[in-house]
Amino acid sequence: MKIKHFLFTSLIAGITCSSFAQSGNKTIIPEAPGNPVITEKYTADPAAIVHKDTVFLYVGHDQKEPPHHGYEMHEWLIYSSTDMVSWEERAAVNVKETFSWAADDAWASEVIEKDGKFYWFVTVSHKDIHGKAIGIAVADSPVGPWKDALGHALITNDMTTDAKISWDDIDPTIYIDDDGSAHLFWGNTICYYAKLKDNMLELDSEIQYIDLPHFTEAPYVHKKGDYYYLSYAYKFPEKTAYAMSKSITGPWEYKGILNEVAGNSNTNHQSIIEYKGKDYFIYHNGSIPTDGGSFRRSVCVDYLYYNPDGTMKRVIMTSEGVDPAE
Ligand code: CA
Repeated sequence: MKIKHFLFTSLIAGITCSSFAQSGNKTIIPEAPGNPVITEKYTADPAAIVHKDTVFLYVGHDQKEPPHHGYEMHEWLIYSSTDMVSWEERAAVNVKETFSWAADDAWASEVIEKDGKFYWFVTVSHKDIHGKAIGIAVADSPVGPWKDALGHALITNDMTTDAKISWDDIDPTIYIDDDGSAHLFWGNTICYYAKLKDNMLELDSEIQYIDLPHFTEAPYVHKKGDYYYLSYAYKFPEKTAYAMSKSITGPWEYKGILNEVAGNSNTNHQSIIEYKGKDYFIYHNGSIPTDGGSFRRSVCVDYLYYNPDGTMKRVIMTSEGVDPAE
């Protein structure tokens, strides 16, 4: 009670203490920690990796000026954190400057490390082949500098023709299994799967389909203990659902909803990591006042918990977010 009383008195009197800054007569209370974790820019489609005790977060940058609607994303942003609470912007990577064959559109992406190199699989629009496409940038560090690894797309819309839309070849996710084999999943309305060659730059199998109930997009694969988890955006507006398997190649058994529709964002895109002994669910909502929404999204972090049988507990989205990881 005494502490509370002191704080209250301090605020009334405008007394400066270390956590408050003075601006003229106004006391500025620093932004409370919590969700969204990034508030100075609109960020979407999070993909996170852990590298040498640091978390690197790759996001799209929603750049549509309010009150206009629609996706306008010309660059990806890279953030890093060592506590999951404070995030520092490390780099901005422009689509057209990185991929000469891309028209624009920094859509969902994912990075994976292999043999000391970082491979960044990205969704863009193709300049010459109608529709979305998947490209790969490569770097020697998790923040870059990034170079187009192929000089052309890995996946183009015309390689998959059963989906009668031009945006079915999006949202790549990559998983490297314990035996070193690399696996690529992507898709919208159809969940596509192919094996990757050791060089990470070529397909090593036919493109296959994975049957998942109400699959919309945003597949993401991770492993915990003996189980592989394939989570994805489910229905629309999107919830996150998931399936489990004992093998990276399936069969995948549907397990239900992992996260509900997030805030006022009709899409979602999850990333799941373990860091300093805790499990995290990283996603986006549209909760930055007052212009946040489906086209001005923001990345959030909450805890993820597993049941003893390996299934995942439904995520509880919070305003408070997570405590600093130690
Ligand atoms: Ca296609």
